[in-house]
Amino acid sequence: MNVYHITYAPEIKTASLYFDGCNFNCLGCIRKKTMYDVHLKARSGSKSGFLSLNEVLKILNRIGARTVIMMGGEPTIDPELPTLVEKLRKSGISSVLLTNGYELEDKLLENVDRICVSIKAWSDELHRKFTGKSNKNTLKNFRKIYDSGVSLYSESIYIPSLVEVREIGKIARFISSVDPEIPYRIDAYIPVNGLWRAPTSKEVKEAVKEAKKHLRRVTCLYGDEKLKYEVLNVI
Ligand code: SF4
Repeated sequence: MNVYHITYAPEIKTASLYFDGCNFNCLGCIRKKTMYDVHLKARSGSKSGFLSLNEVLKILNRIGARTVIMMGGEPTIDPELPTLVEKLRKSGISSVLLTNGYELEDKLLENVDRICVSIKAWSDELHRKFTGKSNKNTLKNFRKIYDSGVSLYSESIYIPSLVEVREIGKIARFISSVDPEIPYRIDAYIPVNGLWRAPTSKEVKEAVKEAKKHLRRVTCLYGDEKLKYEVLNVI
């Protein structure tokens, strides 16, 4: 598989799998800052290698994970992802997929429990500028996930001078056209390579206010939140 890093929060029995590679090339990708779980106190250096499907399953069983969050990178470009998710369901482990929504196999929707689609921008031009790809697939797949009945939520990143209040409002309006009850989170951008600054909490609050004009369940992350649970490095 494309999995190269696993962390675990024992208190909530939740493991996070980190997948290598992505079909987008976002200018402000957090992975340009670190390839590892940002909640770890210390982890650096190069990747130790990729794990096979069996190795991933063995590790999850050994640590006793009850929930698995799949992130990256972009997990959906891994051809073994649908099989992993199927095996997790058979083992009674719930799965959460964090994705840019660009590619989506039907087989995945049969077994995954929850999906978070990151919508980078509503404007296709802005989306292409930031990610290198059109947002058409993402928006189409967003509706497809909703129609499949899989639990769906969404998030966007507030980036000063790029994705601000008006753009967030347009994204929220799109989500509400699918269902105004879909949860939506606005994350403060974490600066990478000095491209843009982090937004102020006032700016993020303004974006939340705008999104709430369209959606009922809007939350945010200011970027300075304290960890609720201990996170351990597994591999
Ligand atoms: S979609 Fe996510 S992982 Fe992929 S390049 Fe963009 S920020 Fe990075």
